[in-house]
Amino acid sequence: MQPRRVAVLGGGPGGLYTARLLKLAHPACEVTVHEQGDPDTTFGFGVGLAAGTQRKLEAADPDTLRELVEAGLRHDMTLQVGADRVRVRNDRLIGVARTELLAILQRHAEKAGVGLEFGSRASATDLDADVVVAADGVSSATREQGGFGASVDVGRGLYLWCGTEFPLADAVFAPVATEYGTFVTHAYPYSGGRSTFLIETDEQTWRRAGFDAHDVAPEASPDASDETSLRFLEQAFAEQLQGHPLIGNRTRWLRFRTVRCARWSEGNTVLLGDSAHTAHFSIGSGTKLAMEDSIALVEALQGESTVDAAFARYEEVRRPAVERLQELARRSQLWWESFPSRLGLPAARLMVAYMSRAGNVPLDRFAQSAPDVVEAALAQYSPPPTPVSERHSRSDLVSESAVRSSGGVAELVAAGGPLTDWVLGRPLAHGGRVFPDRTSLPALDRLESDLDDPWSAAGDRLVASVTGDVLLTGPPTRPALLTRLDLAERVRLERGVLVAVEGPAGLRDDLAAGLVSGRCDLVMLGEEES
Ligand SMILES: Cc1cc2nc3c(=O)[nH]c(=O)nc-3n(C[C@H](O)[C@H](O)[C@H](O)COP(=O)(O)OP(=O)(O)OC[C@H]3O[C@@H](n4cnc5c(N)ncnc54)[C@H](O)[C@@H]3O)c2cc1C
Repeated sequence: MQPRRVAVLGGGPGGLYTARLLKLAHPACEVTVHEQGDPDTTFGFGVGLAAGTQRKLEAADPDTLRELVEAGLRHDMTLQVGADRVRVRNDRLIGVARTELLAILQRHAEKAGVGLEFGSRASATDLDADVVVAADGVSSATREQGGFGASVDVGRGLYLWCGTEFPLADAVFAPVATEYGTFVTHAYPYSGGRSTFLIETDEQTWRRAGFDAHDVAPEASPDASDETSLRFLEQAFAEQLQGHPLIGNRTRWLRFRTVRCARWSEGNTVLLGDSAHTAHFSIGSGTKLAMEDSIALVEALQGESTVDAAFARYEEVRRPAVERLQELARRSQLWWESFPSRLGLPAARLMVAYMSRAGNVPLDRFAQSAPDVVEAALAQYSPPPTPVSERHSRSDLVSESAVRSSGGVAELVAAGGPLTDWVLGRPLAHGGRVFPDRTSLPALDRLESDLDDPWSAAGDRLVASVTGDVLLTGPPTRPALLTRLDLAERVRLERGVLVAVEGPAGLRDDLAAGLVSGRCDLVMLGEEES
């Protein structure tokens, strides 16, 4: 279709990128972005753009991507637990300042001929246009007023987005224990010699620290940050901050809101980016989703002859990808919200647990990008034999014979796997018993579950009901198995019992990743999903 006039509500990444792509595709169309803020004031610090996103942006608009990459800072990733740390290389992940990202997108939108109107709040219903793109963010008034069938899930944990004026060498994930409980940072460097510090904690820790009481005074300006929390956290993370202060930008404790909508359009208005859907920040995908929506919407408007058909096409193309990422993000969110419970794992195994938390990075693939980390994790999972002089138990002998018979883990990792057989073939010594491999199960009580959130109230009851070693069973689907592995981990950690998990033989890679990640002790290979 050939729109004559398009109004874009919201000058965030989604709105600006849509406006530029639209104008490039339809030079005769009048495209205007309405943004309530000023051109150079924004919330937040840096955002990450991963390799896959960069490839898509390059195909859609190489000029913009070139500038984003020039403005970005490439970095690797380190997980640090006390003095124990592991590092993973990441060749194309970049961090870009949000201010710089928006400045580039504004410049390119203007260059294409888009009109940018700043400084006043607009309403989708008042905009006179053939198409209204509502890219008005997570708190979208358009979504709240319209018939989009929206639902919002509020996370259990609390997070705070702040920054500091020095560049970290890597992205850093680091928990810190305080007198109130554990705080965890996801921190990453970005251009301009700065770093984002995203800090999260659980509700009990947050209350014990008194942060619920002294948040930001009601009479404070809407731009005020929670300075009390910032000052406390800069002491707690002094090592990671290397003595630098934390700085806020409208920084307050928040609970993450996951937005879903049954429909993304209504009449001539279409939702895009955070207004239509959000995905937990721990998978770093909000900007990616918004900009990929832009690409799909503009292609749909170009390819279809009516607004209705274009909106239907846009949703048909984007919904599966968005829902897939939202499911990954949901799992990632639950993993991070329960993160302090697994700090007993050594860092390399914890890194494998992190990579496999949402089920999208198989162990073999991770071993290709980080062989040293996987090798260390496998050695921690099944330690090399104790020297003869120190041997006391039969378990040492079992362990040694198994290592010899299956070849060294280093060679296996270097050869690119497959690692699953090796993992399943490891012996286990547990509570005075020895199992020759991870599929040799003793007689166990069976506990069936099809929970979709192991940390829910139903999960609490189920975990409390376990009094002895147990085999967790349930539906043979992959989502159910991944959740069962999370539940198994909770049971293991909180009840201190031996936990086996049943899953279809075709999902043995997930079961193996679960073993290395400390989610279960043993596995039972069952029937395939019919
Ligand atoms: C803690 C945290 C960390 C994050 N980290 C990352 C990351 O690492 N990588 C990543 O990709 N994403 C990250 N995100 C997500 C990312 O910031 C958002 O997903 C992204 O900005 C969405 O873009 P958008 O254009 O849809 O909305 P926004 O960027 O929110 O833009 C919406 C715009 O609309 C304007 N607006 C709203 N209402 C009106 C109105 N009525 N009139 C005029 N203007 C209006 C707002 O002022 C705003 O500028 C993070 C988010 C959070 C909360």
